[in-house]
Amino acid sequence: MEEYISISTLNDFIFCPYSIYLHNVYMETDETMYHASPQTRGKLAHEATDNKTSTNRSDVLLSLPVYSERFGIMGKIDQYKVKEKRLIERKYQLKKIFQGQIYQLWAQMFCMREMGYQVESIAFYEISTNKMIPVDMPNSEDEKEFEEFITRFRNYDPAQNFTPNPNKCEHCIYCNLCDKTEMENVYS
Ligand code: SF4
Repeated sequence: MEEYISISTLNDFIFCPYSIYLHNVYMETDETMYHASPQTRGKLAHEATDNKTSTNRSDVLLSLPVYSERFGIMGKIDQYKVKEKRLIERKYQLKKIFQGQIYQLWAQMFCMREMGYQVESIAFYEISTNKMIPVDMPNSEDEKEFEEFITRFRNYDPAQNFTPNPNKCEHCIYCNLCDKTEMENVYS
């Protein structure tokens, strides 16, 4: 059986596939080494959900572990509103929604459906502005695109040559640990 891919790494893979390799190398070490400020705030937003402090309503499922055998992915959802059949991912701030973040939401939705939950709508919730941002449900083309993306992720070889993108490196939390660049990140 192949290893399951963590849903939380999908956005990082699009940002830079090599960062996933670095994450796997350093994940056993002290998190303060690579969790710079923007990530820390996002992490705290998630902890409110993980510690189940954000709501006590019984019609809301929080931090439910999910997995999909079909895609070989696993992770946790933020919120599922049972009556509305709506899956929600909380973010502290969403100036722009990246494709990888949409893939993460789709991934959670595919997992929930495979586990027998009905999901009729998906959305991001921006904590800083108290705003709900609906996202289109994936159609069959989107599902194919997602499947191909997961295959690319699974087959990625960190030994292959690539040219780092300096614009990404300077905002990368692994920059100071990465052997592909001499740059410092902007959080140093
Ligand atoms: S520092 Fe650059 S090359 Fe290294 S993981 Fe980050 S984005 Fe990728």
